[in-house]
Amino acid sequence: MSIKDNLKAIKESLPSHVQLVAVSKTKPIADIEEAYAAGQRVFGENKIQEMTAKQEVLPKDIEWHMIGHIQRNKVKYMAEYVALIHGVDSLKLLKEINKQAKKHNRVIPCLLQIHIAEEDTKFGFDENDLSELIASDDIKQLTNVKIVGLMGMATFTDNSQQIRREFKQLKSLFEKTKLTFPDLSQLSMGMSGDYKIAIEEGSTMIRVGSSIFGSRN
Ligand SMILES: *Cc1c(COP(=O)(O)O)cnc(C)c1O
Repeated sequence: MSIKDNLKAIKESLPSHVQLVAVSKTKPIADIEEAYAAGQRVFGENKIQEMTAKQEVLPKDIEWHMIGHIQRNKVKYMAEYVALIHGVDSLKLLKEINKQAKKHNRVIPCLLQIHIAEEDTKFGFDENDLSELIASDDIKQLTNVKIVGLMGMATFTDNSQQIRREFKQLKSLFEKTKLTFPDLSQLSMGMSGDYKIAIEEGSTMIRVGSSIFGSRN
């Protein structure tokens, strides 16, 4: 199947409240152009330099989402254009995003990454860190970032019960956090292997790479 056909098949299967982020990391410009020609406008990358190089040459109506782990010293390269940062996993990083956003007179939308996987290789806040952060004065002072939701990655496993359990946990944390922080509207969860479960469990945004562009080397 072509990129266009893959996109079409996935989009047709999505409920209208779920946004598709096409994860184009490691893929060439030509692949992104093919997806763009098929109507896709939201793309996700996990390396700031790679995303910026692509952003410079591709149409300016593309929305670029940073989905990977972020080094603070590289935030400056994307602050001017990034549409959503999914993987915010510390207050220090949030402060740096705020500082760089200010230079461009922007308010950058961010998602806080939550550690939900039972395996411990994934980054993110746990429930206690999250409630502390949300309640802190620090966060109120950050005028140039807007926290609009949460993001999480399930364990990489064939055990769909486990994946479901982890997504359920994130959804329930999302609902609970919304009670004190009503700005939260986006729940970014689900990738090629598990996005169907993620949608059943309340995802509003899925990040799909290999099911659109084919496997990566
Ligand atoms: C690579 C990546 C994806 C997409 O993975 P696929 O399995 O190719 O769909 C989604 N989210 C994050 C954070 C990623 O790094």
